[in-house]
Amino acid sequence: MKKSLLTALLVACSMYSQAQAETLKFGTEATFAPFEFTDNKSEVIGYDADIIRAIGEVEGFEVQIVNQPFDALIPGVLTKQLDGAIAAITITEERAKQVAFSDPYYKAGINAVIRREDGLKYLTLESLKDKRLCAQIGTTGANVAKHFSKNVGEYNTVPDAFMELKTKGCEAVFNDRPVNLYFLITKKDDSFVEVPELYNGEEYGIVVSKKNPELVKRLNSGLKKIRDNGTFAKIHKKWFNTEE
Ligand code: GLN
Repeated sequence: MKKSLLTALLVACSMYSQAQAETLKFGTEATFAPFEFTDNKSEVIGYDADIIRAIGEVEGFEVQIVNQPFDALIPGVLTKQLDGAIAAITITEERAKQVAFSDPYYKAGINAVIRREDGLKYLTLESLKDKRLCAQIGTTGANVAKHFSKNVGEYNTVPDAFMELKTKGCEAVFNDRPVNLYFLITKKDDSFVEVPELYNGEEYGIVVSKKNPELVKRLNSGLKKIRDNGTFAKIHKKWFNTEE
């Protein structure tokens, strides 16, 4: 009798603590493999999902990932529909005027992908000057494309931009290199190649409202803990099969 009472109490306590667990909502745009994409059950998976869940684990919060268009992420944080956004978001001065960023967690950079048949035509980024270029809307890739040309088509997703490149609607896709590389390696489609030049170096950060400095602190503390306990290195190896 006593034992069953104890069990009942334990179950009640654990239900209580589950109900109490804090859940934070993070926005992402899940067509950006390997950082965020969906599995066959439409669950968001990828590097960023693993990182934010690992941070949640050491900082004591549950993570709910919300999939939405890339250009809706910062507005979602500003209007408090999201607690944060993790979507391979480059830390830029312009964005930092609107929102706060966590410490950087990934080093990337922009490059261009072209059709293989144009490999000798476009050996440098400069050779794409004034051409019709493609990019995802609201991204640093789109900004770089606009630096080279006034004729830039902006698409909701990177796969849409690649489709446009394939059907000759543009001459190149400007986008984050790790995502381009993953795309070239995993899509068994050899109709594309990279222009062998990186435009710049960029770093990714997690976006939070400037009104929530406490969350920035927790994310940075979590990032440090998962670096120290080896989880961060494991996640990097899982998705890139290399050391950081
Ligand atoms: N890193 C790029 C940016 O922040 C692209 C991000 C993305 O498309 N998810 O603009």
